[in-house]
Amino acid sequence: MHALIDGKEIARLVRADVKVRVKEFSEKYGKKPALCVILAGDNPASKVYVASKEKACGWVGIRSVAKKFPASITEEELINEIRALNEDPGINGILVQLPLPKGINEENILCAVAPEKDVDGFHPMNAGELMRAGATLEPCTPAGCMELLKRAGVPLAGANAVVIGRSNIVGKPIALMLLRENCTVTVCHSKTRNLKEILKNADIVVSAMGRPKAVTGDMLKEGAAVIDVGINRLEDGSIVGDVDFESACRVAGAITPVPGGVGPMTIAMLMKNTIIAAEMQNA
Ligand code: NAD
Repeated sequence: MHALIDGKEIARLVRADVKVRVKEFSEKYGKKPALCVILAGDNPASKVYVASKEKACGWVGIRSVAKKFPASITEEELINEIRALNEDPGINGILVQLPLPKGINEENILCAVAPEKDVDGFHPMNAGELMRAGATLEPCTPAGCMELLKRAGVPLAGANAVVIGRSNIVGKPIALMLLRENCTVTVCHSKTRNLKEILKNADIVVSAMGRPKAVTGDMLKEGAAVIDVGINRLEDGSIVGDVDFESACRVAGAITPVPGGVGPMTIAMLMKNTIIAAEMQNA
């Protein structure tokens, strides 16, 4: 028996909280909080993501501003656009949709966003704060995973948590967040020798490796809480996670589906970061 951790429903609850804060902010300051999404080039997946961010803004009452540029935009031009948005008091959050067109250094662009408007939580200053004590603006996907664990009532203090993946946007920050909640954290990656053995002792598994159905039920500890961050497109066009849901759900105590698990949380947490940024800038 397992409990399904319903990301769609939990994302709805997060957005409902954000909506209340947005309303209070708008009444207090006579303006809506505003999120600017920058899209350079015409990557079809990016267009879909930007559209869903605009839709989520609409749901919670955040003003959505889209800045679209051709793929030919230079790094310098893009940095100048970001600098102008940093100075604009009408913009509270800036998100640069990745990937960027060839020839533009992602790191330089992410560093150009003012830390207090960095609603993606990718600026080195926010990443550093996360390592120290916890940042005000934390990366959305890992923050969404933590929200899922907490709202699903998964005990964290003292739990053995295994994170699979060590990227800067998911694996590393989620490991720090779990550590902050007093989990005993193990981080696995492509060079890990004995993943199966390590997983056998995991009360919590967060998988962010981008390998379709790589984690199977026989690898899990009975009753484990499983958060599947992976989004993998199969040849037939279907989307699956890193976890083989069918076998894993027979062993796990709680598990997220893909789609409908972590995915909806990422955008909900982006909305939360935008209202946090707006409140902070006006405090
Ligand atoms: P990434 O490619 O940057 O990192 C993958 C990590 O997995 C690496 O650290 C690598 O060492 C590790 N890895 C790869 N193969 C492994 C193996 N066989 N065993 C153990 N570790 C292995 O990817 P990312 O950007 O961190 O994203 C990971 C996955 O999460 C992708 O499927 C991505 O699409 C998905 N993702 C989902 C969301 C969301 O909103 N749900 C957000 C971001 C990323």
